[in-house]
Amino acid sequence: MEKLLKDLLVSDGISGYEENIAKIINNSLSKVCDNVENDNFGNVIGQLGKGKKKIMLAAHMDEVGMVVKHINENGYIYFIKIGGINDSILPGKTVEIINKRGKHIKGIIGNIPPHLMTMEQAKQPVKYTNMFIDIGLSSKDKVLKILDIGDQIIFEPNAGILNGDFYYGKAADNRISCYAMIKTMEILSKTKNLDVKVYACATAQEEVGLKGGKTSAFKINPDFAIIIDTTISGDTPEIEEKVSSLKLGNGVAITMIEASGRGTIVSQKVRKLIFETADENKIPYQIDVIDGGMTDGASIYTNKEGILTGILSIPTRYIHAPTSVFNIKDINSTVNLAVKTIEKVAKKL
Ligand SMILES: [Zn+2]
Repeated sequence: MEKLLKDLLVSDGISGYEENIAKIINNSLSKVCDNVENDNFGNVIGQLGKGKKKIMLAAHMDEVGMVVKHINENGYIYFIKIGGINDSILPGKTVEIINKRGKHIKGIIGNIPPHLMTMEQAKQPVKYTNMFIDIGLSSKDKVLKILDIGDQIIFEPNAGILNGDFYYGKAADNRISCYAMIKTMEILSKTKNLDVKVYACATAQEEVGLKGGKTSAFKINPDFAIIIDTTISGDTPEIEEKVSSLKLGNGVAITMIEASGRGTIVSQKVRKLIFETADENKIPYQIDVIDGGMTDGASIYTNKEGILTGILSIPTRYIHAPTSVFNIKDINSTVNLAVKTIEKVAKKL
C-alpha cells in the first residue's frame, strides 16, 4: 500500500479536529500546487494554474468518531458521537483518545455483559449513552492527568491490503477520496496548456452537516465543481441489489441523485458531460442513485446563484464503522475521470 494512502487512512481527524490530517494533505498538495492555504474554517485549499475560470475539486477530510463527555469517579469515560455511527458497532471496539499534547491513549468500549442483562435489556440494542471507555485507570483523578473532557476519540487506526486489489482501512470515508484528489492534482500539475485555475479543497466538518463545503465554495466561487466521496457498495450479504447495485472493482460511481433529492440532484447538463467523458476515455463506471446519504455537493451546488457540480463516488463497504473495504482500481478510475472531466471543462468554460 502506498505510504500516502496509508498515512491518510490512519491519521486522526474527526469533524472539528482536523489539524493533523490537514497537515498531511497540505504537505502533499504543496508538492503539486502553486500555493496552499489552511483557511479559518479548517479547510485546506490548494490552487494550481492560471486563467480566469475556476474549477473546484472537493473531498472532505473529517472522519466520524467520538468526543470525551464525562469521566466517572472510577475512571470510566462517557462520550458523545460525532457523525453517523450506529451504536450496535461500538461495544468491544478498541479506540484511541487523543489528548492536547497529541498522545494517543488506548481504550476499550465496554457495556453490561449479556449475562447480567434483564430479559427486557437483552431484547433492546444497547445505546451509546450506556457505554463507556475503559482505559485501565481506576479513578477520575488519574484519568484527568492524561486527558480532558472534549478530547477527540477515533477508532483504532488500521490500513492494509486484504487481497489483490481489495484494501481496507479506518476512515476510508473519506480519506480515499482525499488521496484521489491529491493524485488528480499531481497529474494536472503536469498537464500543459490548462487555461484554468484548479482548486483542490479538503473540506472540514462534512460529516456533521456539509459545513466546510459551504464555506469553501463561498470563498472560491467556482465556475464548476467536482466532489469526490465514498458511496455505499451493494455487493455484501444483506443488501438487496435493488437497494444498491454498486460493486467494488467495477469502477467509479457517477452519482446522479443523493438522499432521494434532498441532497444533490446533478443537472442533466453535467451528467451528460461526465458520462460522455467516461465513454470517450473508456473509463469503467457505475451509476449511483441513492436513497440515503449526501455529500458536500449538496452545499456546494447551491452556493450563490448555483454552481454546475458533478459527483464522483468510490464504492466502499462498511462505511462509518471502525474499518472499511474498498478496491484500488475504483480509486484509479475516479482519478482518471476527474482529470479528463477537468481537462474537458477547462476547454468549454
Ligand atoms: Zn463521506
